[in-house]
Amino acid sequence: MAETAPASPLAALIRSDDGDEFVPSKALVIVAHPDDIDFGTAGTVATLTDHGIEVVYGLVTSGQAGEPAGLSPTDLAQLREAEQAAAANIVGVTELHWLGFPDGAVVADLELRKAVSRLIRIVQPDLVITQTPERNFERIYAAHPDHLATGEAVVSAVYPDARNAKSFPELLEEGHEPHAVPRVWLMAGSAATTNLHVNISANLDRKIRALMAHDSQNGPRADVLPDMIREWATANGAASETGWAAVESFRRIHTE
Ligand SMILES: [Zn+2]
Repeated sequence: MAETAPASPLAALIRSDDGDEFVPSKALVIVAHPDDIDFGTAGTVATLTDHGIEVVYGLVTSGQAGEPAGLSPTDLAQLREAEQAAAANIVGVTELHWLGFPDGAVVADLELRKAVSRLIRIVQPDLVITQTPERNFERIYAAHPDHLATGEAVVSAVYPDARNAKSFPELLEEGHEPHAVPRVWLMAGSAATTNLHVNISANLDRKIRALMAHDSQNGPRADVLPDMIREWATANGAASETGWAAVESFRRIHTE
């Protein structure tokens, strides 16, 4: 007689359209700018860390091209790194890696692929969450060129660079063994491409608090942003047909 393993509490909060029951054990989130994570996936991060899953952040830039205009790029980078660390702390993340690429000038070149591959080999996640490399014309702010370039470089690093010993042989010389990541979740794609949904109903308020920890960017919009995030999460919930009140949706890719 076949035995059915009881679904874990975390598995009950993740719904894949194709029935894939994969539940991560360690996740690496890689994005272009401070606050991208908190707009796109902080509710999911909080849900994972609530269930004992380790989550690590990789930030391609330090957001030194953001607001306010009067602050020098160096001072702004320092401020935004501190804001991101505070936001991470709210959703249970303490390990952040800053890759140091120039804000506003990210390209999916070999240098970025190598930096991301190094990070994947160091962290050894079984899930990578990143930004979609596909331009979504329905959401032009989400389709910032730095986001598209980051997504392209990260997917290229997942396959083939990070798992291929012959890609960037200097990484092996540094002691970083090849690592294959079996799943990637892409955020900020068009609704038509999403195929995996996470129930963030219990963590929506924490997501908003994390987002508002980026005071230099989001402080001036404090009167409208929380409601906007709630509306997005509710709309995702309705579109997902899961019956969940608040949802973050992704395009899940099998990368094994
Ligand atoms: Zn961004």
